[in-house]
Amino acid sequence: MDTPKSKHITWTDSHVTYAMRTERNRHQGAVVWFTGLSGAGKTTLAQLVERELFALGAHCYILDGDNVRHGLNRDLGFSPADRTENIRRIGEVANLMRDSGMICLTAFISPYLADRATARATCPTGSFFEVYCRCDLAECERRDPKGLYQKARAGKIPEFTGISAPYEEPNAPELVLETDRHTPDACAGQVLAMLRERGILVS
Ligand code: ADP
Repeated sequence: MDTPKSKHITWTDSHVTYAMRTERNRHQGAVVWFTGLSGAGKTTLAQLVERELFALGAHCYILDGDNVRHGLNRDLGFSPADRTENIRRIGEVANLMRDSGMICLTAFISPYLADRATARATCPTGSFFEVYCRCDLAECERRDPKGLYQKARAGKIPEFTGISAPYEEPNAPELVLETDRHTPDACAGQVLAMLRERGILVS
């Protein structure tokens, strides 16, 4: 559903504008959207980047897969429709955080092109950064940080991305990180460099 259910709602602007927030923060708001297979390194890299941003004095926050499913999205599972709704809600929340002046980092498999396009469309042009954590499925399975691939191979987890559910690779991400070829620190450094080059961070 693209339009609100009720026709009797209006948008109310705040007295504190986005420009006022960014002037005080000394950085722009942004959404850094990590995507990739389970075990590709989304959480690891979001955490490294967040730590670095925080040390620089930036306002930042991570929205992470399982955490969101404990609260906001606890009513959703892993069917295609639920995955789509999961990402739609996260995209909306991430954009609100961006509008509040924060750099919001998201770490979700977000396997469908169309869902990531929806999240992107929620944000103003130039404020959404799709970061593809590219990693061979075999390497993700070898890492298996949560033991999920083992369970999926044993048939204990239905609709597992890469095994029994699809992952649609990004067509034109802002950044591709080859996490099976470079260290986590090197990959995190690439994200920070991108945020500087794109004018989100000024220092
Ligand atoms: P995801 O959030 O994508 O499911 P995690 O970050 O939980 O993945 O796990 C990735 C695992 O791969 C971690 O154990 C991490 O230490 C390891 N790893 C190895 N190289 C990298 C890299 N370049 N970037 C991110 N993680 C890496």
